[in-house]
Amino acid sequence: MSRRETYLEEMGLGPVWKLREKREPPKAPAAPPAAPRRPAQQRFDPVPGIKGSAKLDLADDRAARILKMDWPELKSAVASCEACGLRKTCTQTVFGVGDENADWLLVGEAPGAEEDARGEPFVGQAGRLLDNMLAAIGLKRGENVYICNVLKCRPPGNRNPEPFEVAQCSPHLLRQLELIKPKLILAMGRFAVQTLLGTEASIASLRGRLHRYQGVPLIVTYHPAYLLRNLPDKAKAWEDLCFARRAIAAL
Ligand code: URA
Repeated sequence: MSRRETYLEEMGLGPVWKLREKREPPKAPAAPPAAPRRPAQQRFDPVPGIKGSAKLDLADDRAARILKMDWPELKSAVASCEACGLRKTCTQTVFGVGDENADWLLVGEAPGAEEDARGEPFVGQAGRLLDNMLAAIGLKRGENVYICNVLKCRPPGNRNPEPFEVAQCSPHLLRQLELIKPKLILAMGRFAVQTLLGTEASIASLRGRLHRYQGVPLIVTYHPAYLLRNLPDKAKAWEDLCFARRAIAAL
């Protein structure tokens, strides 16, 4: 099996890509006239009600200070952050990993147990799926890709992030974005989407369109951990990645 086939199989997509045997086309009745294609532009329309960016309280002194930091200052601010209290229960902060000048910024939720132990985002089972998904579109962690989370500390027992924790950590994420200046953000899962787009709309309703966060084009997709539990949706994540690849090529 080729590497590509292995990746696609890992994503649950292998069979979709198998070339079918050549067969005589069945004699079908004439197809009805094709429905008019949705104009490309329409896919890029913003979702009604979304202003294109989550709110961040920039009047807050702490946020304003963070938003002036360079990379070393930001890394050390995250490492010593005690703003939300999660640092008391996690092993270490998980800042982010990859190319600091990447075109692609991938944003997840929060470190899990393995990330907490190793200090790197997406290194557990979900991370392996993410790496395989990236490889399937010719991308690699660290090469033109930066990966981080909304929260830099693991919530105990992998519970969901609390709004206060997200609010305290958001300036870190925003500063990462400003320093990286990616061409495209891939928001993976509910918490990344809620934080970046400031909406409670479902992932399903937000997929397949180009949104914006702080002016940067943003595409919504499922979280890799969700995909591990919902295998049929891997095909949709694959569509999202292909859409993202087309979008970035067109930017
Ligand atoms: N899930 C996330 O959202 N981030 C990680 O780093 C690992 C699992």
